[in-house]
Amino acid sequence: MNVEWLARLPAPARRALYFGLQTAIGSKIRRVWNEFLVWEQFTPERLDHALEQKLSALLQAATKQSEYYRNLKLDRQPGETARQWLKRFPPLSRAQIREQFTRLVIDPLRGEITSPESVSRRRYDWLAVKTGGTTGIPTTVIHDANQRDWGRATRLYAARQCGFPLGTPYFRLWGSEADLLKQQASLQQRVLQSLNAEVTMNAFKAREADLRRHHATMLAHPRIAHLMSYVDAAASLAMFIQDQKLAPPRFKSIMACAGTVTPEFRRLLEDTFSAEVFDKYGSRDCCDMACECQHHTGLHVLSPNAFLEIVDDQGRDCPPGRPGRILVTLLNNSSFPMIRYDVGDIGVWAESSRCPCGSPFPRLQSLQGRQDDMLLTEDGTWQSSVFVRHFVGVSLNRQLIREWQLEQTGRARFVFRYVPLQTDGLQENLKKLKASFQLVFGPSAQIEMQQVQEIPPSATGKFRWIINSYRKA
Ligand SMILES: [Zn+2]
Repeated sequence: MNVEWLARLPAPARRALYFGLQTAIGSKIRRVWNEFLVWEQFTPERLDHALEQKLSALLQAATKQSEYYRNLKLDRQPGETARQWLKRFPPLSRAQIREQFTRLVIDPLRGEITSPESVSRRRYDWLAVKTGGTTGIPTTVIHDANQRDWGRATRLYAARQCGFPLGTPYFRLWGSEADLLKQQASLQQRVLQSLNAEVTMNAFKAREADLRRHHATMLAHPRIAHLMSYVDAAASLAMFIQDQKLAPPRFKSIMACAGTVTPEFRRLLEDTFSAEVFDKYGSRDCCDMACECQHHTGLHVLSPNAFLEIVDDQGRDCPPGRPGRILVTLLNNSSFPMIRYDVGDIGVWAESSRCPCGSPFPRLQSLQGRQDDMLLTEDGTWQSSVFVRHFVGVSLNRQLIREWQLEQTGRARFVFRYVPLQTDGLQENLKKLKASFQLVFGPSAQIEMQQVQEIPPSATGKFRWIINSYRKA
């Protein structure tokens, strides 16, 4: 069934249909969305209070109804705030979720959700959500109907922050084959996409033919002024457009997802597409968690959905400016409590001054990449992949290398794979690059520069610039 005509309806009609369809399938998104917008108007004090209440209800439900949390015997102490209580909960790793899956499910649903493959028999109900699994073993979590509604609200909110509220047409340049295949499977999803006025493109693998097609699609729809994209996919496309001296499509705004928006990447995207770039942080298992506003003072946490902490290796809170592990507590998913969930990302708090936009939601200064993407240097420090992308992705190799990947294969062994674009000046450039790596990883590091025909995608289909296979071994 062709549903693309829906995308040609005027935006207000699409918005009305979107909420109507959601209500028809049993979602309470309209109510949740309105509540989300109320939170946005809170004073910081009122927000604190609302968070305290939501946290309190969640922790209470978890310790009473989930076997895993009941067994931890974390009963609330007299006089303890929900935030203090939360601090006594151990972080929850992906491995623990896999091992404790059925014990995490609350008692009333234990009979229904018996494994990660379980499927609800009701129409709009809990759903098993698989993590993107950029690395390692995919993990399944359960989102209940309430969480799904709040998750949808975070997506609507983030898109609005980035200048394209519900109903505004946008391109979606997305990551993995699996994501796209899954969406094509469901008519309902396609209808929703059309109502969102979304043109999807597969960024699965940035082959030249794909990049040319994406570019042509964009030029063929000059009225679509917004792009939602994986950072890496948008950057690949931007570099391709610049290298090939193609006419760049122009956008009002770009929502950059699923990656680290370095200052260099931001400039590259701004320059190529004449667009305002918004950094957004989210994941499949936690929905959208933070997004920049028009003042670009950092990423506002989407507080009604998730409570975020940033902690150091000893589990202590990191002050603004100091990077640490992000722990996520999903506030609306009481059927499958995810409390202090270690998503594997490294983040930094911004200073706590109020943003000119007036939002009370706290801000992350930046995301520093995934822990799996961190590389171990000679002196034992974990180095974020950001610097590598800086050296390679933008500043040095624009005209010489098409694709690349850096893998740490041993304690002091690295392989840099590259697909050359031209040979003039390539060797000299590679020498400089190797010297930069040597400087960062230490003089004892062995760095192999390996020319390849193409960079293989990971098992899950996502393209990865940095891999640390030493860490996993
Ligand atoms: Zn703001």
